[in-house]
Amino acid sequence: MAVPRNRTSNARKNSRRSHHAKKPQNTASCTNCSKSCLSHRICPHCGFYAGRVVIHAEAK
Ligand SMILES: [Zn+2]
Repeated sequence: MAVPRNRTSNARKNSRRSHHAKKPQNTASCTNCSKSCLSHRICPHCGFYAGRVVIHAEAK
């Protein structure tokens, strides 16, 4: 089995991992309440999806 000949240096390891950061989630605005919500998901604020109420949100 192939075995690495040299230990990976801290600088090489860290520069490889420089692309591993998480990006912030893309948010769309709701068509009903125009608050920010995730696309292709039911709006957590009003329960709308595809132009109709899917979940009747509880009044807070
Ligand atoms: Zn909404």
